[in-house]
Amino acid sequence: MSIASVGIDIGGTKIEAVAIERAGELHVLNRTRIPTRAHNGYDALVETVSRFIVEFIKDYPGIHAVGVGMPGSTDGEGRIKNSNTTCLNGRLFRQDVQARVPLLLRFANDANCFALAEAQLGAGKGHDMVFGVIMGTGVGGGLVINGAFRDGPHTICGEWGHTTLWPDHPDRCYCGKRGCVEQFISGPGVENFFESITGMRLPLQRILEKENSGDIAACQSIETLLDNYGRALSNVINILDPDIIVLGGGVSNVPQLYGLGFEKVAQYVFSDICHTPIVQNQLGDSAGVLGAALLSVDS
Ligand SMILES: [Zn+2]
Repeated sequence: MSIASVGIDIGGTKIEAVAIERAGELHVLNRTRIPTRAHNGYDALVETVSRFIVEFIKDYPGIHAVGVGMPGSTDGEGRIKNSNTTCLNGRLFRQDVQARVPLLLRFANDANCFALAEAQLGAGKGHDMVFGVIMGTGVGGGLVINGAFRDGPHTICGEWGHTTLWPDHPDRCYCGKRGCVEQFISGPGVENFFESITGMRLPLQRILEKENSGDIAACQSIETLLDNYGRALSNVINILDPDIIVLGGGVSNVPQLYGLGFEKVAQYVFSDICHTPIVQNQLGDSAGVLGAALLSVDS
């Protein structure tokens, strides 16, 4: 009998756990979630995550390791950086949780977990090099080569959202630079653009509805999204030339990304023809936690 794998996904609003078993097909044995309550502060979050893991793994005595996906990366000392759960930044979160859990924890960035799950179980299955894209509130990504994600010496592999697209942009990104990809093709990026030309703040879904009915400002907003998306993703293809690109996050539901958006990518890429399949994810919001579970496999 195959041994279960356990994954934990720490999100801004919820912490989720899953136990899976892979005997040919994937079987989800158990899946549960609790609220993150990051507003209670760092110490409370360490306690919450540690207890949740310890309780969850009681049912799986055969496991040796647990995968944990979370936002942000780590600096040279292991302190969390770039996390949108901001109470984690600058803290030795991984070490603090590990000290309270009697099993090896394998941590990874949540975009890497997404890419790993889609590469092994989802839309990227069967491809050697998979670039997983997150386009949501922020823009991130992960690179999986032959079934393993790459982290890199700065633990920033795949972070195309903070490459510079328009250096003269008037506003700074939260990272401190001007004109990052994330400022243009994230959900808030599109909403900011629409607001800049109309004075009206609307959620992306409403902008899409208005674009459907021919609203000029909405059409301009989506055209700008697609053009910036084409410029940004063509850079990724020029550097990595992946076998497939899998899109995830809320903005990945914009259908034009796969039509006119693809044409824009093809227009900007350094090749007469662009063959790279750019597809929507297959695992939906399960990808993060399933990817975390895959971190613990073969331990
Ligand atoms: Zn940035």
